[in-house]
Amino acid sequence: MNTPAHALLRKLPKTDLLLAHPRIEKLSESFTHREIVAETRVILDQLRARGIRGDLCEEELAVDRVASALEQGLAERRRPYYRHVINATGVVMHTGLGRSPLADVAAKRVAELSIRSQKLELDLETGQRGGRDEGCAALIRELTGCEAATIVNNNAAATLIILAALTREKPVLVSRGELVEIGGSYRVPDIMRESGAILVEVGTTNRTHVRDYANRLNEETGMILKVHTSNYRVQGFTKEVSLEEMVAIARPLGVPVVYDMGSGSLIELAEHGIHDEPSVQAALTAGVDLVCFSGDKLLGGPQAGIIAGSREAVGRCRDHQMFRAMRPSRFIYTALEATLDLYRQGTSRALAEIPTLRNLLADAATIKKRAARLAEQLAPIEHVDSALVPCRSQAGSGALPTRELDSWGVKLTPHQGSIESLASKMRLGDPAIVMRRVDDALTLDARTIHDDEVAMIAQRLRDLQASADQTD
Ligand SMILES: *Cc1c(COP(=O)(O)O)cnc(C)c1O
Repeated sequence: MNTPAHALLRKLPKTDLLLAHPRIEKLSESFTHREIVAETRVILDQLRARGIRGDLCEEELAVDRVASALEQGLAERRRPYYRHVINATGVVMHTGLGRSPLADVAAKRVAELSIRSQKLELDLETGQRGGRDEGCAALIRELTGCEAATIVNNNAAATLIILAALTREKPVLVSRGELVEIGGSYRVPDIMRESGAILVEVGTTNRTHVRDYANRLNEETGMILKVHTSNYRVQGFTKEVSLEEMVAIARPLGVPVVYDMGSGSLIELAEHGIHDEPSVQAALTAGVDLVCFSGDKLLGGPQAGIIAGSREAVGRCRDHQMFRAMRPSRFIYTALEATLDLYRQGTSRALAEIPTLRNLLADAATIKKRAARLAEQLAPIEHVDSALVPCRSQAGSGALPTRELDSWGVKLTPHQGSIESLASKMRLGDPAIVMRRVDDALTLDARTIHDDEVAMIAQRLRDLQASADQTD
């Protein structure tokens, strides 16, 4: 270490001195001694490391300056890891941001019940223990017309337990065009292997015919599995086999047909101009034994995997030893029941109150109004240029992969500094604000911004302006 750095480092405030500082003593009202000591070490270590690199000036070693850093560091410790993010990306079901926000009623039910004991497994009529999924299962039966339903932690778990329960060690026929990977660690062939089923690929990537299945089908076949190719589309010269055709060849041999729907909508989205997502009801009407789908994709509820279909097939999933390991928490059943209840109250109720559906189907005029309100609030802010612009949003989570939705947003261009630096400042505040970057601009897509978040975004940009003015 060269001498100047050494001399500088000797001026680092001593821990005892810092701990006795009136501002630090005051912190002991909110933080334990242990936390204060630990954070003091972190701050002093950082200063020491910078001193050694020669990246430190003497003023930063003043006790007051170090005490401020310590206050900030400790405040950061109290900031929860899981916190509010304003989703200005326009990706409606953003997996990185928690996918579907809950409807207000669902969130309220969870908030009310989670601080108390609640009805879960106890049958209040008999006083005996009953099934914990019955509340949600009854609603799914009513909404889809299925014989039976159950819930696990997510749709990946649903697929795994269905394969394990129905096909152990038996061949499962899947079209080559449907052997998809959905987000990194979830790949259909891998899940299949883990479940103990034997994958039999049929057809080709772009075309699979009924005869491809029929040629490989016999009494020993464990299942025909159809997988919704959520996150991509094969376009052009393609052919896939319908659920009805699969059922027609499998049923006479007693082979179950299962459809992993991925998103699984409970409303006919075709009536709203979206043709690539079949409804759960339509799939069940085709005669499949089971369907499974996510709770937090197009359904707009909490993370869950929903299994619906025949009494016999659902019963085998419930009876499997692994079922218990995939059991959701009570908060999930509560939130899911409240979400499903909105569907029971009619499609227009569901469309109005479930944020995912509301955002997905919002018309451009409504979004434009919100974007215009944002642009208006941002106009007086001088350190960025803001302009109302048309943009394109996405469904996300593998739903409608080839479709972009017409939307409106506000394009931000900083007068000074880079786009990255502005994006990072927006992300690091509270609430965090995450935007989309298109080419050389940042866009706040108004489709996924809540009405009450417009003012928060404007406030953040005003705060950034104020702190920029201060350092000038
Ligand atoms: C999203 C998806 C899954 C995984 O669902 P999770 O609820 O995220 O576990 C499985 N299969 C398909 C076809 C999907 O789209």
